[in-house]
Amino acid sequence: MAESYEKWMDEVRAAFDSLILPAAHWHAIGAFDYRSEYDAGVKPKDAAMKANRHWWHEWNQTLNQDCLKTEDCWLPRNHGGQCQQIGESLPKR
Ligand SMILES: [Zn+2]
Repeated sequence: MAESYEKWMDEVRAAFDSLILPAAHWHAIGAFDYRSEYDAGVKPKDAAMKANRHWWHEWNQTLNQDCLKTEDCWLPRNHGGQCQQIGESLPKR
């Protein structure tokens, strides 16, 4: 991998700019384990997506609105469609 971790993180942050995220929750997003994503060769954009899902999962749990059908499903309780797990591989573009 040619890119440094710092450069990779810059791209992760840039990807977050395209997501709608309350600024107050940045610290929660910051608690995500980016390093292991980087080490696993995950693309910055996909890591941002995963961190976002991780955050939603935590947030739903806080509100007691997390999905009860599947563990690690990041969608809110009684969501439509199929469950989506946080670590589930993202669709190829
Ligand atoms: Zn679900």
